[in-house]
Amino acid sequence: MTLRIENHKLVGDQVSHRDTPNRGGVMTPSYLVLHYTAGRSLESSVESLCTRKPQGNASAHLVLGRDGRIVQLAPFNIVTWHAGVSQWAGLVGLNSHSIGVEMDNAGLLKRVGSQYQAWFGKAYPEDEVLLAAHRNGGPVSPWHTYSEVQIERAIELADLLVEHYGLQDVLGHEDIAPGRKSDPGPAFPLSALKSRVLGREDDSPPRYVVTASSLNIRKGPDASFEPVAAALRKGTEVFLLEARDRWSLVEVVSNAEVEGWVSNAFIAAVAAPRSAPFSPSAAAAADGAAGSRSARSAAKPPSEKKARSAKKHRPAKDA
Ligand SMILES: [Zn+2]
Repeated sequence: MTLRIENHKLVGDQVSHRDTPNRGGVMTPSYLVLHYTAGRSLESSVESLCTRKPQGNASAHLVLGRDGRIVQLAPFNIVTWHAGVSQWAGLVGLNSHSIGVEMDNAGLLKRVGSQYQAWFGKAYPEDEVLLAAHRNGGPVSPWHTYSEVQIERAIELADLLVEHYGLQDVLGHEDIAPGRKSDPGPAFPLSALKSRVLGREDDSPPRYVVTASSLNIRKGPDASFEPVAAALRKGTEVFLLEARDRWSLVEVVSNAEVEGWVSNAFIAAVAAPRSAPFSPSAAAAADGAAGSRSARSAAKPPSEKKARSAKKHRPAKDA
């Protein structure tokens, strides 16, 4: 299923094309912006993004289905309308500077009785739901998960687009319109995708050490979650995979099998991987909290990451 780009059009298995009337002029993309459709299906989202609407027209370059199918709605050098009011790194209005990829996903769900319901009424089973707080703020909420094949395909796409167009960064809609937008949300492993696709110089995750005599390592970022393994002893070194306000997802350096959440109060940085001292909250602000389940499956193990030479160095962006 190798993908390639010919004359600003995607070519490959499971790729089809349909032209949207919702498009602007010619542009040179500098960024890739990822979204969720908050829709019912690939087909319904494609239909919606190819329709003129009195309340405002929307579109994107690609729509990525849960089964890995991709529909291209406009060539990559033509403006589509996916970002809306947005800004990043001094640019205002990212539609004129970015490629937009919409991923079929119902988005933020709502608990109704024993079910999780989308805004359009469809119910989703518990195994398609991630309970997490958004890194931009708000309470722990249910989010529709992405499928494994969809995440793999998103990584493949991002890799190709970044390489082909020399894109500066991969962003979420939530990065360029915070407060207004929450997509792709906590269920999408955006920081893992970024580290794989952009290849940072400091590719290995920062190391921390356990400072408490015994520290529980849990299934989720809260003391109510069960431990995943025996409590970590003082001095145990861990890789920091994901940081949140009070909890961090870590992997034990000496045993990659052990991965779970620990309280930030009982770990300390071993050595600063960047010129400035590293702190979990700074990491959360800069890189964000990806959905833990999906992030794990998409992230390369730290050992592999360290071995991989950096493809390109991109300076870290402040959130
Ligand atoms: Zn969006």
